[in-house]
Amino acid sequence: MTTPVPTLPADVAGQTRAERMRQPLALDVITATAEQHGVCVRPFTMEVGDRDTGELKYVGVPCGSTVESQCGPCARKARALRMVRCREGWHLTEEPDFAPEPPTADQTALLAYRADLVASYLHAVGEQQAGDVDELREEIHSVDDELRALGMRGRLPNPDGPGERTPNRSTRRRQDAPNLPRRKVENRTLGREFAGRFRPSMFVTLTCDSYGRVRDDGTPVDPASYDYRRAARDAVHFASLVDRWWQNLRRCVGWDVQYFATVEPQKRVAPHLHTALRGSIRHEVLRQVTAATYLQVWWPAHDELVYGGDRLPVWDGERFIDPGTRQPLIEWADAIEAVEEPAHVATFGVQVHSKGILGGTDQAGRHIGYLTKYLTKTVGEVVEASSERQRQHHDRLHEELSVTPCSSRCAVWLLYGIQPLGATRKTTPGHCKNRAHRRTTLGLPGRRVLVSRKWSGKTLADHRADRKRFVLEALAALGIEKPEPDRTRLVWFKVEPGDPNVPPRAHLLMHAIAQRIRWRAEYDAALLAAQPPDVSATPPQAA
Ligand SMILES: [Zn+2]
Ligand SMILES: [Zn+2]
Repeated sequence: MTTPVPTLPADVAGQTRAERMRQPLALDVITATAEQHGVCVRPFTMEVGDRDTGELKYVGVPCGSTVESQCGPCARKARALRMVRCREGWHLTEEPDFAPEPPTADQTALLAYRADLVASYLHAVGEQQAGDVDELREEIHSVDDELRALGMRGRLPNPDGPGERTPNRSTRRRQDAPNLPRRKVENRTLGREFAGRFRPSMFVTLTCDSYGRVRDDGTPVDPASYDYRRAARDAVHFASLVDRWWQNLRRCVGWDVQYFATVEPQKRVAPHLHTALRGSIRHEVLRQVTAATYLQVWWPAHDELVYGGDRLPVWDGERFIDPGTRQPLIEWADAIEAVEEPAHVATFGVQVHSKGILGGTDQAGRHIGYLTKYLTKTVGEVVEASSERQRQHHDRLHEELSVTPCSSRCAVWLLYGIQPLGATRKTTPGHCKNRAHRRTTLGLPGRRVLVSRKWSGKTLADHRADRKRFVLEALAALGIEKPEPDRTRLVWFKVEPGDPNVPPRAHLLMHAIAQRIRWRAEYDAALLAAQPPDVSATPPQAA
C-alpha cells in the first residue's frame, strides 16, 4: 500500500523527512537478523547466579512460543520437534519400553513414613483433635508431593477413605458400538509385517457430519437450513467423539493402536482430524468403525432458552434464583438425574480418507508435513474470513456457540434454568470464558496435537534432549567439546519489573545472534566431517 508523500524540505544529508521515516529502526533490523539466524526474537530476561563464583548476570531465555506470528524461530523449532516425534513413532519396529523401574529405597522409606502419618491422622480424627488433623493432613500431602518428585506415578489412597461413590449409571447409558466385531485388546502397539520387511502404517482423515451443502469457500448454499446447532455441538464434543473412535478401533482390531493426530478446521469451520496411525488396518475396517462410532451426551436438554436479554437469573448469596419467582434454579445433579435421553448425539461424516504409507519414503515425509502444516498458526489465523459471506457464516456459528454449554461447569447453563457445577457469585449467566465460545476460535480445541501414550515412548522433552545430544556428538566427532555447564551450580531469578540494570532487548538479541553464528560455523564444519544421518536438525539454542 502506498501513501501519498508530501513534499518536505531536504535535510543536510539530502534526504526528506519522509525518506528517513521509512528507514527501518535499529531494533527492527536486529529482529529481522535474529529471524534469519533462527534466534528467538522476543526472549525474556532472567538473572542467573553462580553459587561457586558468586557471579550474577542477565541472560535471554527463548520465549518458546508455538505461534509464528509471535516468534517465528521458536514456533518453527517447536513444529520441527513435533515432526520428529511424529516420524519416530509412525513406523516403529520395536515395542517402546514401558516396564516400570523397581521402586527405590527412598521411595519405599517415604511410603512407610506416610503409612505412619495416616495412622496418626486417623487417630487424631477419632479423638477430634482438629489442630493435629490439619497438620497431619498437610504433612501427608507434602510426602505425596515428595514421592511424585521422586518419580512415583499414580495416586495413593486418600487418608479419609474412598469417599462417596457416584451411583452406577443404568445400562441405557452404555455407549457400545454393537455392530462391530469385538476382540480382546492385546498388549502390543506394532502393526503386522508383510513379506518379511514391509511394515506399512496409515494416514487417516475423519470429518464431522454434514450440516447442509456448502460452497467451495465453506459457506452454506442455504444458510437458513444449515444446521448450526448441530455444528456447534459437534465442535464442542469433537474430542470426546475422537476418543470413542480410538476405543472402538482398538476393540475391533484387537491391539493397542497408537496415533499422532492433529485437529484442524475445515473451510466450513468444522473440526477434522488428520492422524498418523501406527500399523496397517484395512480401509473397510476403518470405514466400519467410523460409521459405528457415536457419542451420546447425557446432559440436560438445552434446546429452549429460558433466560436472556435483561431477564437473567440472579445470585441470592448462595445460589442462582429466578428473578421473578425467586425460586432457586435446578441443581446440576438433579437435572442430570432427570435426564431421560441424550441431549446430543455426535457422529462422524461418511467420508473417511485412509491411505497406507511406508516408513522412510517421500510420501511419509509429505504426510508428516501435511499433518503439522498449520501448527505454527493460531486457530484464529487458520479460520480467518476473507469475504463477507464467510464472515456471516462465522458470525452465525459463533452465535450458536454462545448458547451451547461446553461443560458441566459452563455458565451458559444458567440461560437454560440450570445451576452449573461450581457456580459462585462471580459467575455471570451466559458468560463462560472457555475457548469453545470464542469468536476467534469458533469451537475448535486448544490442544490441537493429540499423541497417544505409547507413540514413540518419548516425551517432547526427550526428543529435545535427543536433538541436543546429536549436535553435541557431531561436534565432538570433530574434536569440538561442548561440556554441559554444571547447572546445579546455577540459581535462576525472575527479573523484577522496573529493574534498571536489565539490558535492553537489542543487547540480548545481538548476543544471541553472535553466539548462534559461532555455533553454526562449528556445526557446519562438524556436519561436513561427520556426515550425520539427519541433516534437517538445527543446532539447539545455546542457553
Ligand atoms: Zn521466541
Ligand atoms: Zn462454556
